[in-house]
Amino acid sequence: MQLDQLKIIVTGAGRGMGAHFATQLANAGAKVAAGDVDVEGLESLPATVAKRKLDVTDETDCDAFVQWAQDELGGVNGLINNAGIIRDGLLAKRSRKTGELSTMSTEAWNSVLAVNLTGAMFMTRAFALNALQTEIASGVVVNISSISRHGSRGQSNYVATKAALAANTVTWSREFAPMRVRVGAVAPGMIETPMTQGMNQKARDTLVAGIPVGRIGTPQDIWCAVRFVLECEYFNGRTIDVDGGASMG
Ligand code: NAP
Repeated sequence: MQLDQLKIIVTGAGRGMGAHFATQLANAGAKVAAGDVDVEGLESLPATVAKRKLDVTDETDCDAFVQWAQDELGGVNGLINNAGIIRDGLLAKRSRKTGELSTMSTEAWNSVLAVNLTGAMFMTRAFALNALQTEIASGVVVNISSISRHGSRGQSNYVATKAALAANTVTWSREFAPMRVRVGAVAPGMIETPMTQGMNQKARDTLVAGIPVGRIGTPQDIWCAVRFVLECEYFNGRTIDVDGGASMG
C-alpha cells in the first residue's frame, strides 16, 4: 500500500522506534494515530499525528483506541504492533558474589507477556473487527518481533512473546486474507533506543562487537524494513530479521 493511503495506528509511539515510525509515516503523508502509556512522549510527535493514551494490556482501552482512531482518521487500514518491554533474567541462578539463589519472578514473566503478546493480540483483534465492520478495501498489520525469537539467554519471557508474534504473523495472514489484510513482521537486532540505552556498557560493547556490520542499529534501519512490509503488496505472513548479520547466542 502507498504510505499516503495509510490510516494507521502505531502503539508504543511515545519514544524509540515507535516514535520514529509515527514521524516517518506522518512525513510521508499517512494519517497516523499514535498511542502510548507515556502521553508526554507522544507530544514530541508531529502536530498532524493524532495522539491518545493507550495501555495495550487493557482490552477495553484497545477497543476504545481503535474506535477513536476510526473517527479521528476517517478509517483505519493499518496497525503497527510496536509497544514492548523487557524484564530480563535467568530462570534460576546462583549469585557469583553472594551465592544467593534467585529466579525470574512470575511478575516479570506475566508483565512481558501482557504487553508484548496479549497487548498485540488485543490491538490486532480490535483492528480486525473494525476492518470487518467498515469493510475496508485492503489493510496491513506489522508486528515488531525481535531476533530474540530464535532463543536468547536471560530472556525466556521476551523470547516467548517475540517467537509467538512471528508465529501469529503466519496465523493472522491466513485468517485475514478474506478481508484483504496482509500481516508481516520485522525482527530487529540490537537497536539504539531508550530500551537499550539502559544496558550495562560492558554487555552492550560485547554484543556490538559481534555484529558483522560493526555497529548498533538505528530506528531508521528498522523503518526501512517496516516501510517495505507496508508497501510491498506481495509480502505476507513472513518475518524479516534486521540485525546487521548478528545471531543471538
Ligand atoms: P522503547 O524505547 O522502550 O519504547 C517502547 C514504548 O512502548 C515506550 O514508550 C513505552 O512506554 C511503551 N509501552 C510500554 N508498555 C506499554 C503499554 N502497556 N501500552 C502502550 N505502550 C507501552 O522500546 P524500543 O526499543 O523502541 O522497542 C520498540 C519495539 O521493538 C518493542 O516491541 C521491542 O521489544 C522491539 N525491539 C527492540 C529492540 C531494541 O534493541 N531496541 C530489538 C528488538 C526488538 P514507557 O516508556 O512508559 O514504558
